[in-house]
Amino acid sequence: MNSDEIKSLQTYKGFFYVFFTSILLYFLVLRFLNAQFKEYALHLQTLKSKSELEQSLQKTHLMYHNLFDNMLDSAAHCRMIYEDGIPIDYEYLNVNKIFESMTGLHNVIGRRISELIPLYAQENPDSLHVFGEVASTGKARKWEHYLKALDQCYSLSIYSPAQNEFIVIASDITEHIKHEKTLLAAKERFDKLAHHDTLTGLPNRLSLIEILETKTAKNDLPPFSLLFFDLDGFQDINDSYGHRFGDNLLIEVARLLQHTFFADTHIIRTGGDEFVVVVTRQEEQKALLPILNNFIHTLSHPFHIDGIDVYTTASIGIAQFPQDALTTESLLQCADAAMYKSKKSGKNTFHFYSNDLIENALQRTTISSNIKKALLHGELSLYYQPQVDPSNGDIIGFEALLRWETADGFIPPSVFIPICEESGTIIEIGEFVLFEGCKTAAKWSREGLLHGHIAINVSARQLIHPNFISTLERIIDQTQCQPYTIELEITESSILENPEKVIALLGVIKSKGFTISIDDFGTGYSSLSYLKNLPIDKLKIDISFIRNITHEIKNQTIVRTIISLAKGLGMNVLAEGVETAEEMNFLRENGIDSIQGYYYYHPMSEEDVTNFFQS
Ligand code: C2E
Ligand code: CA
Ligand code: CA
Repeated sequence: MNSDEIKSLQTYKGFFYVFFTSILLYFLVLRFLNAQFKEYALHLQTLKSKSELEQSLQKTHLMYHNLFDNMLDSAAHCRMIYEDGIPIDYEYLNVNKIFESMTGLHNVIGRRISELIPLYAQENPDSLHVFGEVASTGKARKWEHYLKALDQCYSLSIYSPAQNEFIVIASDITEHIKHEKTLLAAKERFDKLAHHDTLTGLPNRLSLIEILETKTAKNDLPPFSLLFFDLDGFQDINDSYGHRFGDNLLIEVARLLQHTFFADTHIIRTGGDEFVVVVTRQEEQKALLPILNNFIHTLSHPFHIDGIDVYTTASIGIAQFPQDALTTESLLQCADAAMYKSKKSGKNTFHFYSNDLIENALQRTTISSNIKKALLHGELSLYYQPQVDPSNGDIIGFEALLRWETADGFIPPSVFIPICEESGTIIEIGEFVLFEGCKTAAKWSREGLLHGHIAINVSARQLIHPNFISTLERIIDQTQCQPYTIELEITESSILENPEKVIALLGVIKSKGFTISIDDFGTGYSSLSYLKNLPIDKLKIDISFIRNITHEIKNQTIVRTIISLAKGLGMNVLAEGVETAEEMNFLRENGIDSIQGYYYYHPMSEEDVTNFFQS
């Protein structure tokens, strides 16, 4: 290789070197610049997001403060203060605007609750504990808090934003709680009223139903006895002495029942003069007979009320769960049916339920609920049975007899009258009878058909009702009927139930021109001394003495005695239920004044009587 060749080779080598180094340098610089640029870009980026973050932080902060300050609930940020790990106080770090107006506490920041309300810890021992728990565990809580010092009630939401700190959001629910308390008190009052009888303070029918519903919920629940008490003749006492007196008697009876049974035995006043006792204790159930006998014996002594000695007795019916019935309703029905049996068998006694009783009870309830409707719907009317002078066959008067005609036929008065007497409906029914009877008497008198009187039955309860005389006067006025055409029939037993009062009433009735007869005479054992003093015009010999009079010597003797008694007292005497010629002959021969019976006439409708007269 010559030197020229070496020179040019070195030149090439130099070029190559420069070129290679330049390229290397270029890349190195590029990389460096790139890295620098990236870093710069990153720096720029960071700078940008930092200000955004700051901005947004500021924004959040502002929002939080706005929220804190302007929320409608009071808010407080506090720090818990502990002693030996036990929360003993807290300090206010911040409170919102409403805090002061709501609590009435001012300048609280930096101060402790013990400074602001010195008795706070004593009066609210729970609250420090609750706040302390939230502050240490960080678990939020809801809480209702009564602050005694401020006499305010708050609903609190408490949570812990940092350890040992808590925020309390409080709304004042004082008014709400007060309102709730009044509502609660009203409801309690209502419940008590709804479940208790205001007169005696005993539980009432609603309570009874609830008690029975729980005791009969299942068939295998423990057995118990249901005792149904109905006072005898209470209505008469009420009518005679007034409601206040009657109320006092009911209070006394309630007390006596409470003395008779164990303190935890349910004694309920179910209404009016009715009480129910639910006996669940085994030993008391076993001793029912002596307990009830004792109770009845106690009632043989009078109650002293308002300076008056008054007697009352009770008819009692007993039904037993589960043997007699399984449901509340049927148990009550059974006890009622058993009570009714006690009434029927002379009152002042008790009976246990037996199967055959319920039929009658069902009939009774349907009748008493239907009779008022019957009155409104014109299903009730009067029939008239002529009374005859047996010496000449002349009609000397009529007895008005009530008829109830339903779509299924007639219901006999012997069935519905006693039920109406018991339920009190007899007052309305009786007024209807009086009105209709007087109206017919006036009409027949005007038409010249009535020679004599129309006899109208008056039941005991109706007679001693305080309005009886005024009702009678009003009806006479309205119907323009002459009192001498009306004979009022009073049963012998109703005189005996209340002799003084009835004697006085009969005097008033008589003075108004009515005539009076004693119905069903001979069944009530009235003493001669009463009879002598009563302003009575007529005795009606009861149908039971007329039956078999031709065969039974005893009845003949009784009837002869009554006839001579009546004559001796200057009264008329009528025989009821005369069906045969023999009966009529016997009575006529023994001097009877008048006869009423199928032998002469059956009861007839008003229209039939009118037609009969005109034919
Ligand atoms: P009572 O006052 O003793 O009436 C007589 C009853 O004997 C009537 O029964 C009458 O239809 C019936 N009778 C009349 N003649 C004979 C006869 O020859 N043989 C037989 N076996 N019976 C005869 P009634 O109408 O069924 O009345 C039954 C009872 O219902 C009445 O007995 C009375 O106590 C009561 N009653 C009827 N209407 C009224 C009323 O308007 N007011 C009240 N308080 N009670 C009434
Ligand atoms: Ca009668
Ligand atoms: Ca009679």
